[in-house]
Amino acid sequence: MSAPIDWHARAAALSLNGQAFIGGRYVPALSGKLFDGINPASGKVLAQIAACDAEDVDRAVKVARAAFESGAWSRMAPRERKKRLKAFAALIADHTEELALLETLDMGKPIRDSLAVDLPLSAQCIDWYAEAIDKVYDEIAPTAPTAVSLIRREALGVVAAVVPWNFPLLMAAWKLGPILAAGNSVILKPAEQSSLTAIRLGALASEAGIPDGVFNVLPGFGETAGQALGLHMDVDAVAFTGSTEVGKYFLQYSGQSNMKRVGLECGGKSPNIILADAPDLDAAATSAAWGIFYNQGEVCNAGSRLVIEESVKDRVVEKVIEVGGAIRVGDPLDPATEMGAMVDARQTERVMGYIEKGVAEGARLRLGGKRIVADGCFIETTLFDDVTSDMTIAREEIFGPVLATIAAKDIDEAIRIGNDTTYGLAAAVWTRDINKAFKASSALRAGVVWVNCFDHGDISSPFGGFKQSGFGRDKSLHALEKYTELKATWINLG
Ligand code: NAD
Repeated sequence: MSAPIDWHARAAALSLNGQAFIGGRYVPALSGKLFDGINPASGKVLAQIAACDAEDVDRAVKVARAAFESGAWSRMAPRERKKRLKAFAALIADHTEELALLETLDMGKPIRDSLAVDLPLSAQCIDWYAEAIDKVYDEIAPTAPTAVSLIRREALGVVAAVVPWNFPLLMAAWKLGPILAAGNSVILKPAEQSSLTAIRLGALASEAGIPDGVFNVLPGFGETAGQALGLHMDVDAVAFTGSTEVGKYFLQYSGQSNMKRVGLECGGKSPNIILADAPDLDAAATSAAWGIFYNQGEVCNAGSRLVIEESVKDRVVEKVIEVGGAIRVGDPLDPATEMGAMVDARQTERVMGYIEKGVAEGARLRLGGKRIVADGCFIETTLFDDVTSDMTIAREEIFGPVLATIAAKDIDEAIRIGNDTTYGLAAAVWTRDINKAFKASSALRAGVVWVNCFDHGDISSPFGGFKQSGFGRDKSLHALEKYTELKATWINLG
């Protein structure tokens, strides 16, 4: 048996690169400006990161455009793109331990999750699009015999991927897989809280044979690098994952510039509905606890509103408290840790503010509610009971380990409560009655509805939102629609 990994020793031995990756090489920001990448678990500076801004964006867009026009990638046979993307996926898998460590240091999630979830799913995602791209056919329209209409999908050109910090590598992979498979050039802008894995990907993409200029990484702030990408006249599309607030900015940027395509994967306030006839109430409650506390609650589709049929509410809440209270919160580099640090001090303050509001508005605090160390970024697993839909903690996305439980007298009320939100990313219903399951899954306005499970999925199944959770889909072949333009070529045979 191999010795357990000493993650702290590995972390101490790291030498970290914070530069941008443009045109196949690492470069500083043109201004020379840097910002601190901070480990939220210790509060210490991890690395100095290049603070790219509008002039770096301009440089990267020119390089990405030239690579696209050269055809080195965009006109490469799909089978060859597939080979190189598969090599890219294999390199990500080969570097699992290194990338998992970077992810955990940068944003505070437990190393066990980075290793078991983020890394394998990221590699698998790139590999899936690689495998798919030489099997996707175009169409011929059923016209009269006097014409042939070829309906083809063409790559867009230069696509910017602007991603959040909660699953830095995985959210990037959901964009990069279909963007690159379709033949586009890409500029990846990681969130300023979590630049390290994105930066590391640059070298791996090069090593995999992705031509220079096709894959670029620009670390920097949202208000500078992010905005400049959104406003750039030669960026053809933005693939965004992040908050609804910033998603709306990207719609404005598009209108103020070149009407670039915008795909938005935004926030959520997902209802997890447990009916009295759930097949196994304890299993449902256990899943509900993990559905909010996994990844410190920093999950877009977290089941942050637990809607429970009145007759079983107390029993379910007790079980959620038991499971949630036993979750091990602590050092993200300890392999036994199940919940790590919040991403930064600002997010910690924000979540604590919501907890205070919950108490002030009259919800009953039944679990947690405090920081674990007075000034640190660790928050206890927290549950509020007797929440009503008008309370702030039931309406706004908290993005932390805070669960609101709400009683419903029957399925109709549960569905009404479930839909009483501006968001529509995900929902779940637990029942052994197929008719109720189908009724709820049809009535709930969300991009995915789980029946008798929570947060299950596969790269083959689309993911994305209704309402203000955004539009366009990540994952599955549908994601290719965001990164291609439909062209009809009408050939007159008459
Ligand atoms: P955020 O919106 O603050 O930032 C996301 C990205 O946008 C970052 O790269 C950031 O630098 C950039 N950005 C910020 N302000 C900008 C501006 N003014 N102009 C241009 N770019 C700007 O989100 P976050 O705090 O990083 O992530 C949390 C949010 O992401 C939550 O709302 C969560 O629900 C959402 N999310 C959604 C999904 C999904 O698939 N729907 C997945 C993960 C996270």
